[in-house]
Amino acid sequence: MTAMSFFHDYQREQEWNISKKELLELVEVGVLAEEDIDRAVAAKFNPNRCGFEGKGEIWVEDILNLGISPVKLIENVRERFTSLGGIIFEGCSLSRLYIFDDAAVLQAADGNVLASRLVIDATGNFSPIVKQIRGGMKPDGVCLVVGSCARGFSNNSTSDVIYSSSSVKQVGESKVQLFWEAFPAGSGPEDRTTYMFSYVDPQPRCPKLEELLEAYWDLMPKYQGVSLDDLKISRVIYGIFPTYRESPLPAAFDRVLQFGDASGIQSPVSFGGFGSLTRHLGRLSDGIYEAITGDFLDSHSLSLLNPYMPNLSASWLFQRAMSAKQRTSVSSDFINELLSINFQCMQKLGDPVLRPFLQDVIQFWPLTKTLGLVMITKPQILPSIFNQVGIPVLLDWSRHFFMLGSYTFLSTFIDPLIRPMVNSFPPKTKYEWKRNLEAWKYGAGLDYEL
Ligand SMILES: Cc1cc2nc3c(=O)[nH]c(=O)nc-3n(C[C@H](O)[C@H](O)[C@H](O)COP(=O)(O)OP(=O)(O)OC[C@H]3O[C@@H](n4cnc5c(N)ncnc54)[C@H](O)[C@@H]3O)c2cc1C
Repeated sequence: MTAMSFFHDYQREQEWNISKKELLELVEVGVLAEEDIDRAVAAKFNPNRCGFEGKGEIWVEDILNLGISPVKLIENVRERFTSLGGIIFEGCSLSRLYIFDDAAVLQAADGNVLASRLVIDATGNFSPIVKQIRGGMKPDGVCLVVGSCARGFSNNSTSDVIYSSSSVKQVGESKVQLFWEAFPAGSGPEDRTTYMFSYVDPQPRCPKLEELLEAYWDLMPKYQGVSLDDLKISRVIYGIFPTYRESPLPAAFDRVLQFGDASGIQSPVSFGGFGSLTRHLGRLSDGIYEAITGDFLDSHSLSLLNPYMPNLSASWLFQRAMSAKQRTSVSSDFINELLSINFQCMQKLGDPVLRPFLQDVIQFWPLTKTLGLVMITKPQILPSIFNQVGIPVLLDWSRHFFMLGSYTFLSTFIDPLIRPMVNSFPPKTKYEWKRNLEAWKYGAGLDYEL
C-alpha cells in the first residue's frame, strides 16, 4: 500500500502554539521521535495567563507554552513519510474526485489521475469536499482573528492564553467582544505574536477583517504596554474559523474521510486545530488502519471514525456565550465578568478541573462542579446567561450535557464489560464496537489524563 499526499504549500512561518503533552502524541503514535519534536520547538515560555480586564487574572503552567515551527515539523514528517515509501505531489491541487465501488479516483488540476482505496480529506476549514457535503450551508458561528508578529517587546517571557476586553466594542457596523492571545515567538527574544479575535454571528453586518485589523492597531499597544513606533512588524496574520454545530462531520461518501479542521473536530472556542489533531491522532490512525485492512470503507463505517461527541457539542454554548449580541439588555461587561467568574471557580476546584478545560477537553464532572460553584458563588448572573445565549440554545445544550453524563457512565461502567468480548466478535462488528467504545471515551473527554 502506498500513501500519497497532495498539497498546496506548507511554508507557514507563523508558529503553532501547543503544550508538550499534546505534541508527544506524535511520538506515541510513531510519527516522529522525541528529538524531532525538540528540534521543531522554536519557543518555550511559562507561566501562561488567563486575564480578564479589570477583574483579575489567573496564572497556569505548560498551557500552549511551546511555539512550534510548522516548517521544521512538517519537514521532519515529510522525510519520514517519503522514507517509508510515501509519495508527495507538492504544489498540486486536487480538482475532482470520482467514487466507484472499488476505488476513489482523484484528478489533479494538471489533469493527472490517481486511484486510491481511501481518500483522507485534510484540506482544512475551506475543504471543497466539505463545502459540497454541507451544501454550501452558512456556518453557525465564525471566529475572526487578526494579529501580527513583531519585534520590540521588552516584556516577553510569559504568554496570554486568553485575555478578555472589559466591554463590548463597536467595530464597523457591529458590536463585538474582543479577546486577545499573546505568545513569545522563536525568532528573537523581543519577538512576540499577538492575536485579537472575536466570535461573531455570520451575517452581512458582521465586521470585516480590515475593520478588525484597524481596531487591533488601535488597541494592541495599550493591551501590551508598547508603542507602535517601537515595534518592527515581521508579519500580519489573519484568519476566519467557521463552526458548524453539526460537528464532527460524518463521512458523506464511501472511501472519503474528513480529517483535521475539515472534519470539524477542533474546539469551537479555541480553534486550536493542531492540538486537537494530535489528540485524536492515535484513535484515528488505529481506526483508519482497521478500516483499510478490513475493507470497511463505506460511508457508514467511516462515519464511526468521526462520531458524535457530546463534549464537543456542549462547548458550542461557550462560543455563543462569548459572542456579543447586537441588541441586548445584558451589561456590556457581561462576557468579561462571566469568564472571570468561571475561571475563578475552576481555579478553586483545582487542576483536574482547570487543566482539561484549558486544553479543550470538556468532561462531565469538572463541568458540573464548575457550573455548581458558579451558581452558588454568583446566582445573580444566571438571568443574564439566559438572556445572552437564549432558551433554544440552552435547551439544545442540556441535551448534550445529558449525553455527556451518559457517555461518561457508558465509558466508565459499560466499556469494561464489553471490551473483553470485542475480540471474539466477527470482524465488522469488532470494528464497529471498537469505534463505539472510542466514541464514549473521547466524547466524554476521558482520553485526557493529567
Ligand atoms: C492565524 C492562525 C493561528 C493559529 N494558531 C494555532 C495554534 O497556535 N495552535 C493550534 O493548535 N492551532 C492553531 N491554528 C489552527 C491550525 O492552524 C489548524 O487547526 C491546523 O492547521 C489544521 O490543520 P489541517 O491539516 O486540518 O488544515 P490546514 O492546515 O488548513 O491545511 C489544509 C491544506 O490543504 C491544502 N488544500 C486546500 N485545498 C486543496 C486542494 N483542492 N488540493 C490540494 N490541497 C488543498 C491547503 O493549501 C493546506 O495546505 C491557527 C490558525 C490560524 C489561521
